[in-house]
Amino acid sequence: MSTGSIRVQSENIFPIIKKFLYSDHEIFIRELVSNAVDATQKIKSLARMGKTDADTANCSITVKLDATAKTLHIIDEGIGMTEEEVDRYLNQVAFSGAEEFLEKYKGQNEANIIGHFGLGFYSSFMVSKKVEVITKSYQPGTAAVRWECDGSPNYTITPDEKTERGTEIILHIDDDSTEFLDAHRIKSILEKFCKFLPVPIYFEEVKEKIEVENKVEAEEKAEEKAEIEADEAVDTTTGNGRQLINNPNPAWVKKPSELTDEDYKSFYNELYPYEEAPLFWIHLNVDYPFNLTGILYFPKIKHSYEIQKDKIQLYSNQVFVTDQVKDIVPEFLMLLQGIIDSPDIPLNVSRSYLQGDPNVKKISSYITKKVADKLEEIFKADRKSYEEKWESIGLFVKYGMLTDEKFYDKAKQIALLKEVSDEKYYTLEEYVFGTETLQKNKDGKTVVLYATDIVQQNSYIEAATNKGYLVVLLNDLIDPSWIGQMEQKYEKIQFTRVDADITEHLIDKGETGEIVLSKEDAESLEATFKQQITLPGAKIALAGLSSDAAPVIATRPEFMRRMKDMAALNGGGGMMGFYAQMPDEVNFTVNANHPIQKTILQQQDNSKKETMVKNLVDLALLSQGALKGNDLTQFINRTIQLMENE
Ligand code: ADP
Ligand code: MG
Repeated sequence: MSTGSIRVQSENIFPIIKKFLYSDHEIFIRELVSNAVDATQKIKSLARMGKTDADTANCSITVKLDATAKTLHIIDEGIGMTEEEVDRYLNQVAFSGAEEFLEKYKGQNEANIIGHFGLGFYSSFMVSKKVEVITKSYQPGTAAVRWECDGSPNYTITPDEKTERGTEIILHIDDDSTEFLDAHRIKSILEKFCKFLPVPIYFEEVKEKIEVENKVEAEEKAEEKAEIEADEAVDTTTGNGRQLINNPNPAWVKKPSELTDEDYKSFYNELYPYEEAPLFWIHLNVDYPFNLTGILYFPKIKHSYEIQKDKIQLYSNQVFVTDQVKDIVPEFLMLLQGIIDSPDIPLNVSRSYLQGDPNVKKISSYITKKVADKLEEIFKADRKSYEEKWESIGLFVKYGMLTDEKFYDKAKQIALLKEVSDEKYYTLEEYVFGTETLQKNKDGKTVVLYATDIVQQNSYIEAATNKGYLVVLLNDLIDPSWIGQMEQKYEKIQFTRVDADITEHLIDKGETGEIVLSKEDAESLEATFKQQITLPGAKIALAGLSSDAAPVIATRPEFMRRMKDMAALNGGGGMMGFYAQMPDEVNFTVNANHPIQKTILQQQDNSKKETMVKNLVDLALLSQGALKGNDLTQFINRTIQLMENE
């Protein structure tokens, strides 16, 4: 037997590890199982290289829980360690990490420490009062040893009887960590971190022995136990009570050429069992200048409020690390789902550190490029299918354009505008080209006419399409911001909502229609309407439109409406608050050339005249969807009266 003391200075490191290493104590399982996987991979590669004739065909890892003995065992059939290796790897190598931790810990505040360090093996002391390591090296002629440490800096190494190659770590779970003696808890942690590890991992529970004096009582207990066991023996339970935890060969580690569409879909289903099939996917596979594999899926999304972030899972060599990928992938890519696996992303460090990490930056720009390329590829190869998916893709593309300059450069050619009525789609360039001079205003800008609500803006859409204009639908929360970006990037494009002005003025050609009324009649008409329109902030103007255009048209000026929309979206503080307070600005255009204006001018009965004018104004508001409540009721009553009087 040899004893020794792990090199620590004045302090005992274990209480510090326990308290500050990770906020999540459960990760000790990830660390120990990863070590077991590493040890298994090592013996397998030695065998492959012909450096050992050890049988490595069926190596597996077992996590065994003995709640009665209060122990948790992690058993592998890996490479094992000789006595000298135990000393080197556990007392020196593993501990050097712990020492570094201690150094950084000194003089720092606690919050800075948590999550900054990965202490591998020593993380077991977060939950254990004693740790034993029983190990036998694969090398012929070496003896098994047992390393033991009770959480003080002192350890002992003694010979052991173990005959099979491999390592067994025994954690004597501390009284304040008894949650890790609960089989469900252990199983769920294993499922979280180890679901896709490359070596089969079994969970095994040592059942309590029945020790009672009374025979009848013993039988009763046995029956009870059998029932409980039968209940628990679901799905993955194998013959001897061992349950396989993982799928050692997940899709993303295979070559794309080995996978069918069905394989990708069924893997998606394994990851997100309750979701609709994905639209398409991207298989990532790089080994230079960094290592990265994974599959990213495009989910079906119809509206931006349905977007769920944090659906991407980050793995390192098939070990689950986190599903909080913020700062690792660009914000807009978080709309995607799937797996990113990279040993080059530093795992045991805080996220603020990750932001500055050069590997993380490279990885995120690589993924951005891949995603943009894939979209472009579908756009070019199968425009129809791209258009069919536009509803979902569109949100993603616009979000990406708004938040990522590099993505913007690629995506601007493949962003689509959907025509309101037809199922036709246009890129911005196609829109400009397709509308030729018809939609160019006096400054040579192409005016992109859009609607946000097909039902509510129906009359405006119809008027515009009748004039030959191309009206597109931009009805998502993200669209106002996207419109703003497009206007900023393209000097020669301007967006105008169909109800922003009377159809004749939507595209300002610098011409005005002629009013056929006499000057006196026009003035009198304008005065009559001004008298009847009491809406705060309303502007009233006479215009010489065609006689079949509506007699009065209500419009909401683009700028003011956008500001109010934005204020509503942002909750409205500061300048936004100012806009939010403003009355709903409505402009009224009175069509002086409509025949009804003559009837109004000729009407001698003032009350009848008033009713007519009021009704025309209300009709205009009605087609804006802006006639509500008491005003609407009055309009209805007035109309009925009008009909009765006929
Ligand atoms: P790391 O895994 O980053 O090297 P750890 O603290 O997790 O750091 O482990 C330290 C070392 O102990 C490992 O590099 C390995 O050599 C050895 N080791 C740990 N667990 C095992 C095991 N189950 N089988 C063989 N060697 C192990
Ligand atoms: Mg390790």
